[in-house]
Amino acid sequence: VPSELRAGKDEVAVRLKRARWLGPGPVRRLRVEHGRVQLDTRVRDGCLSYEVGLSEGGSLDAAVRRVGRDLLASPNVWLWRPERRARDARATLRLHLPPQVRALVPWPARSDGVRILDAEAFRFDSYAAFGRFTTVETTEGDVRIEAARLDGALAIDDAALLRWLRSAIGAASQSASGLPHKQLSALVVPSGEGTTPVPFGMVARGGAASVLLLVGASAREDELVRDWVLPHELSHLLLPFVEREHAWLSEGLATYYQELVRARAGLVSERDTWQHIRDALTSAASESTDASVVRESARMHLTRSYTRVYWGGAAYWLGVDVALRTHSAGHASLDDVLAALRAEGALHDVWRARELIARLDALTGTTIFASAWAEAEARAFPAYEATLAQLGVRAEAGRVQLDDGAPLAELRRALIAPRR
Ligand SMILES: [Zn+2]
Repeated sequence: VPSELRAGKDEVAVRLKRARWLGPGPVRRLRVEHGRVQLDTRVRDGCLSYEVGLSEGGSLDAAVRRVGRDLLASPNVWLWRPERRARDARATLRLHLPPQVRALVPWPARSDGVRILDAEAFRFDSYAAFGRFTTVETTEGDVRIEAARLDGALAIDDAALLRWLRSAIGAASQSASGLPHKQLSALVVPSGEGTTPVPFGMVARGGAASVLLLVGASAREDELVRDWVLPHELSHLLLPFVEREHAWLSEGLATYYQELVRARAGLVSERDTWQHIRDALTSAASESTDASVVRESARMHLTRSYTRVYWGGAAYWLGVDVALRTHSAGHASLDDVLAALRAEGALHDVWRARELIARLDALTGTTIFASAWAEAEARAFPAYEATLAQLGVRAEAGRVQLDDGAPLAELRRALIAPRR
């Protein structure tokens, strides 16, 4: 028996109402310190109960929110776990719910409905919901999809919802070795009338992939299929989890790939892709500040300079991808080196940014990643104009024309050539 059980996030400690030992031996109240349930380690096996309050509130990764008659409740809020765990610790979960109440939890189910939680189910965040919704299932390639649309009005029906999810997963699989997670749960939250089809999305990787998507009431299927948010969220899964201070790396990668994978899947044309990349880079670079994107990243949530950090990061990855491909005469690419990194088991850990970059350099036998970081740090925004010019992305009065005579025009086409 572990000495302590605790919530997924410290802020959640106050939600614990009580904890009881149910046996062996007499039922008794368990001691709780700062939301941590204290256990007797001399006992070999046992059973306990605890009760948590699910009132609304909490940060994004430990959120409880009412959605009409349904409830979003992150497992961080209700799933207590041992403080110290073996690296390969696993658990099983069986849910007993009131009649008509359903759950969408991210973890894979055995045939008897019991869920399997691997060590990453506790290492990383995840999303879950309870309510009177129905869940729908499908597959795309080798990825199993389970989705629930929570209470509220949406223009799309379940069939259109599944087609959208499958299309985005198909697109995000347009990277070397495909999507690393073979199970995805999607929580679709109707968000009322808005200006964009998907006003917000978030992905987590605890035990499987789970994604939370706010969807506009009037969003049409064709708008959702072309939208960037879900491809962006899924592209996060291509890179290991990086310390949050260096969000420019993870957000930059997801921003870069949201463009590549939609173009590779044919959802957006080659010209429109480069038009969008150029417009977004130009706009992000023009936001005046003297801090580099690397420095801005650490304080992004205070300054709200999200666009600059996301697209500054995207400029970094575009630069290293082009440098890698040029350096290797087309034999190496960012796709391949990320696939090699994942093949080493890198997704199991939280990485420090510098270590990740050093590993990418080691895998490619270059210093491309570290040099580009040093350059990004030395300027207000990573250089991208010369790269676009070499790729043959030229703008006249703001409108992009693709120049097939440019020195790297072939490389430009290779970037968005379908992968599989
Ligand atoms: Zn993101």
